Parts: sequence; structure tokens; C-alpha cells
Amino acid sequence: MSYVDEVYELVVAKNPSQPEFHQAVKEVLESLRVVIEANEEEYRKEALLERLTTPERQILFRVPWVDDKGQVQVNNGFRIQFNSAIGPYKGGLRLHPSVNLGIIKFLGFEQIFKNSLTGLPIGGGKGGSDFDPKGKSDREVMAFCQSFITELYKYIGADTDVPAGDIGTGAREIGYMYGQYKRLTGLYEGVLTGKGLTYGGSLARTEATGYGLVYITDALLRDHGQSFKDKTVVVSGAGNVAIYAIQKAEQLGAKVVSCSDSTGWIYDPEGIDVELLREVKEVKRARLTEYAAARKSAEYHEKKNGEHGVWNIKCDIALPCATQNELDIDDAKALVANGCKVVCEGANMPTTMDATEYLQKNGVLFICGKASNAGGVATSALEMSQNSERLSWTFEEVDSKLKGIMENIYKNISEAAKKYGMEGNYVAGANIAGFLKVAEAMKAQGIV
Ligand code: NDP
Repeated sequence: MSYVDEVYELVVAKNPSQPEFHQAVKEVLESLRVVIEANEEEYRKEALLERLTTPERQILFRVPWVDDKGQVQVNNGFRIQFNSAIGPYKGGLRLHPSVNLGIIKFLGFEQIFKNSLTGLPIGGGKGGSDFDPKGKSDREVMAFCQSFITELYKYIGADTDVPAGDIGTGAREIGYMYGQYKRLTGLYEGVLTGKGLTYGGSLARTEATGYGLVYITDALLRDHGQSFKDKTVVVSGAGNVAIYAIQKAEQLGAKVVSCSDSTGWIYDPEGIDVELLREVKEVKRARLTEYAAARKSAEYHEKKNGEHGVWNIKCDIALPCATQNELDIDDAKALVANGCKVVCEGANMPTTMDATEYLQKNGVLFICGKASNAGGVATSALEMSQNSERLSWTFEEVDSKLKGIMENIYKNISEAAKKYGMEGNYVAGANIAGFLKVAEAMKAQGIV
């Protein structure tokens, strides 16, 4: 059996009931096959793939807190410190009822390659909890965040592990976590990113993942003699990534006609009014029904079981920005049938593997999240740099660095794909380019 297949079987056997983690490992190993097979003897002897797929450290902990009725609640807390070969662990904290160990491991594993692709010195990690901030009072969210950090603070630090936001963890949660970290340690240091601007946050971090997604899509389009101008774009999600992807795509001349949340989706043929969407989602934290109520041209559709509405809308470009496995094989078929030519992932692993293969086989230009949503973590690393030098850069400075980083990622993934005989396969290109740097650093540092 080949080394790749052997290691995949081992991962499945050692990590039972973690389908998302298996899926992420399979996708990466499959596209690395050609590189691994060229160095099989050396990698096998050093157990490089076994080490790469086993987290350096997994921290699982209890998070007790008291709700507004005086009832004690208990959640599970997770931090996976996956790989520190090229820098301190870096990756977000997800707060969502669906969070479990397998999901955090899939996200942490992906993060290793994504962080490597940014060209910045950051290792891979991820964390979170099955706590749901939705419907909780500010005091309850604070109680949870303080309890979460009271355990986690022992394992993180500006030079060891620097968590950030993710689904359910926005500026409010980061603020409460930072306050508790500072209180426990007495250190005013860049231990978390996504901080508010008054206490060490970076300008353009809020916009970074969505803007970065559009910058890399634009680089891809330009490489194929096209642009965003007058293109119809379909976006899923209505959170941080989706909102700023919509804003930047519209600034570049596209018409974005959809967005969605966990209960429904919007079709707005006149183009999404991004300021209204921000008001509904960022300020009021309300449902998309409020967007539809305030805008004549918008249709609201309740999400039906197993159906992902927005992918049936005719478009040139699709940007999935909600969550994992939200674009499946039926959605991919609908997109191709409707003439969609480009899919770039804003979320982490939103496209299932068979859907990805279908899109690629049908000539759709496809960039996977670990490359196309790396703008968020890249800008988090820029926040770390600003914290270290005790300076704040202007919005334009950060935004222009972000643009440069995304264009560089596009260049690196397309060159890596070409070099290994898979021109135009940006999934393979991203995995190969991300892997080679980490593998070289791991080899140089010996068996650790
Ligand atoms: P947010 O919490 O801000 O928004 C998530 C959006 O997706 C919301 O509209 C939410 O709906 C919807 N959503 C969440 N879970 C589900 C689900 N199970 N089914 C359908 N819709 C769902 O998160 P972000 O925008 O920050 O993150 C979105 C994706 O991008 C995630 O995969 C995240 O890991 C990834 N990502 C985020 C980065 C960042 O910087 N924020 C960086 C890199 C990747 P509702 O409003 O109803 O909750």
C-alpha cells in the first residue's frame, strides 16, 4: 500500500467518528500524492505524514458559567495546537453548538497549510466551544468568555499561541476574552487578534477575509483575461466573511444578488444593499427577514431541509462564505448548468469533495478556502506585528499589504500546480505550496 493510503487509514482508525477531520486529511493527502511519492522513502522513515496529521497538543476542558436565571451551564472547550514548525500556533475560536473535537481538528489541520501559504511565520491551531452566543445576553456571553479563558490562558501567549475570531466569535467575544487574559496574567500583549481598535486591533482586520477572497478571485480572473466588472455573483452567508466579500465585489463593479443565514436566503436581483445587510446582521444581530422587509427588490426564502437555495441562482461567480459542506454535488451541478465559471471559497471547506471534483472537471476555475480565505489570518499576523512594534498602521497600509499577500498566494499556488503537472488545479497547488514549506521546516528541526 502506498504511504499516502497507509497514513489515511491510520488517521481514520486513530480518530474514529471525526468525519470532517478525515475529509480534510484525505483532500490534502490526495493532492500531495505526487510530491509524497517522489520522496516516499525519506518521508516514511521520518514518519513525516504521521507527525503532520497528529496534533502537537490537544487541550480539552470544562467551561462552567452561570446564566441569567442563576442556573449553572457547562460547555466543552477545545484548543488544538496542531503544528508550530513555522511559527506560533495561530487560528480562530469557533463558538457554535455543532463544535466537536473532529471539527476543530479539521479546521486546525487546514490552518497549517493556509498559514504557510500567507508567507508569514505562523503555525496552525484552532479552538472553540459548543457554546452558542445566539440569544444570550451580553452578561452571559461575558461569563462564558471569562470562564473559557480562565482555563485556556495557561496555554496561549503572544509567542506561543495566538487565537482569533471565527464563527460566533466576533469583536465582543474577543474583547471579553482579552480582558480576562490581561487580568489573569497582568500582561498587555498581542495574545488574541481581532481586537478592538482602542486596545491593539488592526485596521482592516474586520474586512480582511472577505476583501482577501475578492482580491484573489480578481487575480484569478485577470490571469484569465477577465474581471469582476458586470459579473453576477452569488454569495452564501451573511456574517463577517460574506458581508465584506459582497462589499468589495460590488466596489469592483460586480452585482452580488444573494446572501444567506442559517434559516433562509435572499435573492436580490437589484444587487445586495450591503449597508442594510450590515445594519441587520452586525448591529441588530437579526434574521434576514428584516433585510427583505426593508428592501422592495429582495425575495426571502426560508431554508428547507437539505436544500441550499442560493446555488440555484444563475451567476458567473459563486463565493460560498457560510460554513463547511454547504455546497454539495447537486449544488455543483446546478451551478455548472447555470453557466457559473468561477467558485472561490470564503468559508472553510464549504464544498464537498465530489462537488469540487465535478466543478474542476467541468472547467470551473476553483480556489479552495485555505488559499482564498487566508486574508483573515494574514491580517491577524499583521496585527501581531503591529502589537510587537507598539505601532498602528493605516487602513490603506494594511489593505495594500493584504492585497499583495493574496496576489502572491495566487502566484504561488498556480506555479506549484504547474510545476507538478497539474496546471489550473489550484487545490493541488495550494496543498503542495503550503505543505513544502512546513515539511522542510519540520525536517530541519529534527524529530520533535
Ligand atoms: P460568522 O459567524 O460571522 O457568519 C457565519 C454565517 O454563516 C452566518 O450568516 C451564519 O448564519 C451562517 N452559518 C453558520 N453556520 C451555518 C450552518 N450550519 N448552516 C447555514 N448557515 C450557517 O462567521 P464568519 O463569516 O467569520 O465565518 C464564515 C466561514 O468563514 C467559516 O467557515 C469560517 O471558519 C471561515 N473563515 C472565517 C474567517 C474570518 O476571518 N472571520 C477567516 C477564514 C475563514 P446566522 O447569521 O444565522 O448565524
